[in-house]
Amino acid sequence: MASPQPLAGLEKIAPYVAGESEITGVERVIKLAANEGAFGPSPKTLEAVNAIGSDFHRYPDGDCSELRDLLAEKNNLPKENLICGAGSDELINLLCRSYAGPGDEILYPAHGFAMYPIYGLTVGASIVAAPENGITVDVDQILAHVTEKTKLLFIANPNNPTGTYIPTSEVSRLIDGVPDEVLLVLDSAYAEFVEVDDYSDSSEFVSTNDNVVMLRTFSKIYGMGGIRLGWGYAPDAVIDILNRMRSPFNVSYPAIVAGVAAIQDDEFLKKSQEHNKKWLAWTTENIRALDLEVPDSVCNFILVRFPEGQGKNATAESADVFLKSKGIIVRRMGGYGLPDALRISIGLEDEMKFVVETLAEFVSN
Ligand SMILES: *Cc1c(COP(=O)(O)O)cnc(C)c1O
Repeated sequence: MASPQPLAGLEKIAPYVAGESEITGVERVIKLAANEGAFGPSPKTLEAVNAIGSDFHRYPDGDCSELRDLLAEKNNLPKENLICGAGSDELINLLCRSYAGPGDEILYPAHGFAMYPIYGLTVGASIVAAPENGITVDVDQILAHVTEKTKLLFIANPNNPTGTYIPTSEVSRLIDGVPDEVLLVLDSAYAEFVEVDDYSDSSEFVSTNDNVVMLRTFSKIYGMGGIRLGWGYAPDAVIDILNRMRSPFNVSYPAIVAGVAAIQDDEFLKKSQEHNKKWLAWTTENIRALDLEVPDSVCNFILVRFPEGQGKNATAESADVFLKSKGIIVRRMGGYGLPDALRISIGLEDEMKFVVETLAEFVSN
């Protein structure tokens, strides 16, 4: 029987599995599965969004002009090279649709963010995963996997889900080695959390290269994942294409209002950074003290690894089941090639204490 046929290859896409948010039968759920920012939105952002009330009769400003003004000012970047999106996800999607198609290759690191291969497959491109050095991006491996077909290269720095980063000198070496016709997308979703000196959000490379784009998001440190807002900084020619490709009102009015308030709340940003610094270190140290492996992270989440053969039934799966029975939702990592690991976001103080307590109970069983 004849039936409408989707484009070839779409059946290969494994649908994105979002972090869970409910557990049946458990009253107090602690959700640490999506790196959403411990505090949620800032009080000033909430106030601004609540003030919208019933005032959403009109279409939003399709250019996000006020928001881009503020982003340009805060980050010292040219406004005309900034673009806003319904989450940085939308911009990843637009970049794939604009720069790759059937027969092309999209390259990313083996433990890279899941949306790169997902959007890559939606445009019919082949996705190529370059091996990493352990769980850290390996610039030489990336460069070794660039071919004549490579159109796009995505790297999250620091990376989700590994929490690792490459220093600015390595980003620079990568850019030098990547052919000019390959578009390199540096996704700095977690830049605000990073406290080390040899890291930068890579914006300086966008101004000096025609093939480098930087992406940012309001979903992580700003705690606004539900409002869908991200932004990008790109060279003239890329911005021009993205503006043609995006829908005219891709960012909603509430998202613009929230972004305008959030970006001006420096106090909240600082508070969130200090909170993360303290509880990232505390959580890492206390879980390591349980003899579990926790790689260094510069983000607002950690990986906890349960290597095979390390005692009784201490697998990532059994730990996940145990945590869940206590109301704690974390993220399984099988889909990222890390089946022995759980990813745990840094939440509030009492949440982190409860996580450590619960893992201690788990390993003592
Ligand atoms: C969370 C995340 C994003 C997507 O953020 P949105 O702005 O919510 O779409 C992009 N890249 C990485 C690496 C992330 O972890």
